[in-house]
Amino acid sequence: MTLLILCDHDRGTLAEASLEALTFGRDLAQRAGLSCEAVLIGEDAESAAGPLAAHGAVQVHLASHVLLTDYGPEAWGETLTQLTRSTGATAVMACGTDRGNEVIAHVAARLDEPFVANCTNITPGDTWTMTRVQWGGSLLEDATLDAGHRLVTVAHHAVEATPTETPADGALVQFTPDLVAEAARTVVKDRVVLTQGITLATSPVVVGGGRGVGSEDGFAQLEDLAGALGGVVGCSRAVTNNGWRPHSDQVGQTGTRIAPDIYIAAGISGAIQHWVGAMAAKNILAVNTDGEANMVAKAGYAVIGDLHKVLPAITEEIVLRRG
Ligand SMILES: Cc1cc2nc3c(=O)[nH]c(=O)nc-3n(C[C@H](O)[C@H](O)[C@H](O)COP(=O)(O)OP(=O)(O)OC[C@H]3O[C@@H](n4cnc5c(N)ncnc54)[C@H](O)[C@@H]3O)c2cc1C
Repeated sequence: MTLLILCDHDRGTLAEASLEALTFGRDLAQRAGLSCEAVLIGEDAESAAGPLAAHGAVQVHLASHVLLTDYGPEAWGETLTQLTRSTGATAVMACGTDRGNEVIAHVAARLDEPFVANCTNITPGDTWTMTRVQWGGSLLEDATLDAGHRLVTVAHHAVEATPTETPADGALVQFTPDLVAEAARTVVKDRVVLTQGITLATSPVVVGGGRGVGSEDGFAQLEDLAGALGGVVGCSRAVTNNGWRPHSDQVGQTGTRIAPDIYIAAGISGAIQHWVGAMAAKNILAVNTDGEANMVAKAGYAVIGDLHKVLPAITEEIVLRRG
């Protein structure tokens, strides 16, 4: 009995979120008595296979076909459905990214089975019980799943990607699906890379600014601090609404979920819609003039004061200490 875990990659570059899904899935597979097997679909898939054994994949299925050269939700969904049938897998999982949820939804439609998205924990049994996040993380919902095929995705950042103590075998197994042209009606042909290098979602340090920063120019102080710490700048929706920063910098329900080692939230009140994007941060330092602000209450550390004085002082101290 097999648990298939779809691992997302972009032309051979593995998405970190896939390793989270594998970390989550190998533990689930062990408790459910399932074989934990990874699936890579499309062009250059083999280049992404490297870390999968170390993260618990007993086998890695490499699905290739001329119609899978570029990502297409229907073709990927059809491929994963055929692989599910041919391996006899009873459970299929992906990370709860846009792409993971989209592909598993296609599998669910094709198998005529239910699908539970964005789980944070799963207890296997005759019926699986699980908790999943809804509404951008502001609602936790308990659910049960009883189906021939258990189709789930794992909420992004629900677990940290960690290698196993003893790497699994990770044997590569080729799979060629039987696809017709209609399976590739929607295909990604090109993409615009908005961020390169460290991104908001992956950076270990995020310096976030809110309405309290006061202006577009005010973010220069946040850029200085982020630069000194090797991090990136994020912001609240009040900031993007004002046109001070692009939407790609926005943290929150309608922005990016972050999970840095430290989040420095300056001039941000900590509204629930912002908090759900920031709550996976391991440490939070709030800088705010209002000691009663929600972000101050939720942060492990806080400085009550004007960010335009506090942030340059932190940057200066870092530069001083580094000589
Ligand atoms: C459907 C929906 C989705 C949303 N999605 C998001 C989302 O993804 N992300 C998001 O961020 N918001 C989102 N929002 C908006 C959210 O509700 C808040 O309005 C927003 O987060 C507030 O931004 P803010 O904290 O920067 O501003 P404010 O709430 O105005 O807070 C400003 C803070 O700055 C402090 N301050 C002022 N001056 C200084 C200073 N000189 N030094 C230090 N502190 C100072 C103030 O004390 C205050 O705490 C969403 C709202 C809705 C309805």
